[in-house]
Amino acid sequence: MLEIAGLSHTYANGTVALNDVSLSIPRGMFGLLGPNGAGKSTLMRTIATLQAPTAGTIRFGDIDALAEPDRLRRTLGYLPQDFGVYPRVSAYAMLDQMAVLKGITGRADRKAVVETLLNQTNLWAVRDKAIAGFSGGMRQRFGIAQALIGNPELIIVDEPTAGLDPEERNRFLNLLAAIGDNVVVILSTHIVDDVADLCPLMAVLANGRVQLQGKPADLIAST
Ligand code: ADP
Ligand code: ADP
Repeated sequence: MLEIAGLSHTYANGTVALNDVSLSIPRGMFGLLGPNGAGKSTLMRTIATLQAPTAGTIRFGDIDALAEPDRLRRTLGYLPQDFGVYPRVSAYAMLDQMAVLKGITGRADRKAVVETLLNQTNLWAVRDKAIAGFSGGMRQRFGIAQALIGNPELIIVDEPTAGLDPEERNRFLNLLAAIGDNVVVILSTHIVDDVADLCPLMAVLANGRVQLQGKPADLIAST
C-alpha cells in the first residue's frame, strides 16, 4: 500500500502544482487521470523521490519515502514521461548496464534477467538493434523493460501511451496489466480509456488537487 498524505508542491516561480494531495493506493493497477498541467508529473517525480515536496508524507509499506529515499528507490520502477534513451546502444546492452546499476552484478543473473525482460516486452527479435531506430511503441516497451529490472514492488508510468498508435497502445497496456496484482502500478494519463480499460481504482487530479477517487465505472459515469 502506498499512502500519500497532505502532499503539496509549490515551484520556485510560485506555481502550486500539488495542493494537499492525499491518496491510498493498494496493490494492483491504479489510474491517475488528469488534463495537462494537473500536476501528474510533479506527483510522479515526487513519489519517485526525484524532487522533494513542500509539505506532506509518502509511505510505502514500512518505508518512509522522504526520510529513506534509497530504500524506496530499491523497490521502485519508474518510466518517466520524457524517458531518455541512449541512441547508439543496443537494447540488450542498455538493459545489461542498467541491471548492473540495480546491483545485479553476476553475469549469469544478469543474462537471465535481461533475456526474460526482452521476451516479456516482445523486444527479443530487436535486442541487438540500437534503441535510436525504435518506433515509439518499441521505446515505451523498452521503458517498461528497464523499469521492471530487479522486481520492483512500486511501478510508476507517466503518460506512457501519448503518441502511440492504437495497436502499440494496446500492446503496451497489456504489458502493464500482466505485471500483476502483487505490485502497486500507477498509470498517469490524460486518456480516460487507458484508465477505464485497465484500472480497478483511479483518482482524478486537476489543478493540483484530487477531485475524485474510486472505481472508474462509478466516476466516469458521473462525469
Ligand atoms: P501534468 O503532468 O499533469 O501535465 P505537471 O506536474 O507537469 O502536470 O505540471 C503541473 C503545473 O506545474 C503546471 O502548471 C506546470 O506548468 C507547472 N510546472 C511543472 N514543472 C515546473 C517547473 N519546473 N517550474 C515551474 N512550474 C512547473
Ligand atoms: P510502429 O509503432 O511504427 O507500428 P512497431 O513497434 O509496431 O512499429 O514495429 C513493427 C515491427 O517492425 C516490429 O515487430 C519490429 O520487429 C519491426 N521494427 C520496427 N522498427 C525496427 C527497428 N528499428 N529495428 C528492427 N525492427 C524494427
